[in-house]
Amino acid sequence: MHLLTVTKTFPGVSVRAAFDAGERDFGENYVQEALGKIVELADLRREVRWHLIGPLQSNKAREVATHFDWVHSVDRMKLAQRLSDLRPPELPPLQVCLQVNISGEDSKSGVAPEAALTLARAVAALPRLKLRGLMAIPEPAGDLAAQREPHRALRKLLDAMNAEGLGLDTLSIGMSADLEAAIAEGATWVRIGSAIFGSRPAKPEAAS
Ligand SMILES: *Cc1c(COP(=O)(O)O)cnc(C)c1O
Repeated sequence: MHLLTVTKTFPGVSVRAAFDAGERDFGENYVQEALGKIVELADLRREVRWHLIGPLQSNKAREVATHFDWVHSVDRMKLAQRLSDLRPPELPPLQVCLQVNISGEDSKSGVAPEAALTLARAVAALPRLKLRGLMAIPEPAGDLAAQREPHRALRKLLDAMNAEGLGLDTLSIGMSADLEAAIAEGATWVRIGSAIFGSRPAKPEAAS
């Protein structure tokens, strides 16, 4: 199980402090904000891995394919195809997870669970992407048992894909509020921001 240190809204100096404390994997939601920090921390670039965990528009695919190591939020074929087409040949394949709308919320991005296997097969066939597994942001739930349900559903979906021979090794689940539940259900990445850095200031959508 790995820790993804979520640095969205926190400045480059905070990322550097986390690096000095030993962290090497950093998660960002907003492409423009992330690119600023990737430039600011260029001296660390060879030692760190940048993960995009927020929703991604196709018009930002080139910047993401060029500057990131992982994308956890792939949820449609057109986007996956663009990321594969635009991944520079000198870089290793972009590591990707499919984001699944596991709680079935209208407002959430992510592929529907019923459509995930078909998408996974198509993404796994793209030459410049490496499909690693599944990611979800479940609806908040109160107690541990309720929090475990969507995580377990995602793990079962991963198991079903592996029974079809997809060979996936990654379950990106768990944030500050539900990390115990996610770990209990087999998380391989927990994505933690506020439990490390403190609460974030509200960020207007327009800044993404
Ligand atoms: C912000 C964010 C996190 C981290 O959330 P915390 O509650 O601060 O731990 C994890 N995953 C995604 C997709 C996020 O947007």
